[in-house]
Amino acid sequence: MGRVFEAKLKFAKLEGILTEEQARTIALMHDFRNELYHVGLLHEAILPALSRFYFSVACDILGSYPIRGFGYTIFQLTELTAKQNPEISRLIWKAIATVGGYVMQASYAPNQAHEPHRAPSTLALCLKDAEWIPAKDGSLRRPSAITTPELAAGFSTAGNDAWLNAIGFASEYRQRSEQSQVRRKAAQSIGLPAELADQLASLSPDALRTFGSEMLQRIASGAFTTPVFPEREAPNPERRAERLVERASAAPTKVYETRSRSVRTTDKEVRQLARPYLRDLYTNPDGEMICQACHLEMPFRLEDGTPYFEAPELLQSSSAELTENHLALCPTCCAKWQHANGTSDAEIGEAIEGAELPELSIVLAGEATRLRFVQVHFDDLRTIFGVTTPNAPAVVGATLPLVADEP
Ligand SMILES: [Zn+2]
Repeated sequence: MGRVFEAKLKFAKLEGILTEEQARTIALMHDFRNELYHVGLLHEAILPALSRFYFSVACDILGSYPIRGFGYTIFQLTELTAKQNPEISRLIWKAIATVGGYVMQASYAPNQAHEPHRAPSTLALCLKDAEWIPAKDGSLRRPSAITTPELAAGFSTAGNDAWLNAIGFASEYRQRSEQSQVRRKAAQSIGLPAELADQLASLSPDALRTFGSEMLQRIASGAFTTPVFPEREAPNPERRAERLVERASAAPTKVYETRSRSVRTTDKEVRQLARPYLRDLYTNPDGEMICQACHLEMPFRLEDGTPYFEAPELLQSSSAELTENHLALCPTCCAKWQHANGTSDAEIGEAIEGAELPELSIVLAGEATRLRFVQVHFDDLRTIFGVTTPNAPAVVGATLPLVADEP
């Protein structure tokens, strides 16, 4: 209705806020007011009496006015909080702390027969979403993203709980700690340490997926079921002992003789060079040396603090002794590499040539395994095996296919 006085008056009458008589009186009085305000007619003889009468009519109306709804805000609050000024924040905080929590609520009833609806006031809604509470670190935070210990000097939650709760103070922290309690309880309910739940919660979704599938694989592989240790008892221990004494007394003495055979003599030196080369390449920034096949840290360290690792040759068929032609493997992967290796040298050579990533897919002990390389090692291998570019000069004796040097 804006500034249309007549319409407002009519509406108030329809709503029953004004009686017919009050409406007529106000209309009349408003005419006098207009003459005074817009034209300048003073009606000096009657105006003081009329104004007192008008005042008393207005008091009667306002006195019987049924309040249906109310709310609270601070003038231009959105603009004020947008200034991101801690001094303004201090004034807002102080003002609300003085009046108390009720200003965070608005109330509205369509008429007196209904219970009023309650909802957050405009003030509460604005303060809830704005970054306005000063933190120790100098930032201004949303109420949900700050906790009591993080409040800047001069701000205290003491006595302010009601209105702070209404705008969600520390709610993110509370939610996190509630979730964390639920997780910890869940972990403990199946016998896992609560710390594990905390640690897992800090992992990325990708890491959790990997962790999950690795655990399932490990469980499926029987890694957590203790195998039965064999038991064997002799049916007749005395008889067995007797026979063993007989056999032991008749056992032949060890005999030694000198024989001549061909032994590879050039590998010692290259192996000595390969070890520092590999240790350097496969030690990560945390100082952990990583196995190329299982991608885990080497299992133990020697007395001098260096990690224990094996350095078998990559291509045994290479006729040249080459530092780069070695792998950094943990003892278990090395044993698999040497005794349960399902991939031939020729296949490895082809794979190096065709690889897009610095890794080779091989089969170790029947399991598909990614043999990973650091880029520089992989490039070195390509260089020495002459597969980098067609024009690259191949190292003599090292081009594929390679010839075995031992029968
Ligand atoms: Zn390994």
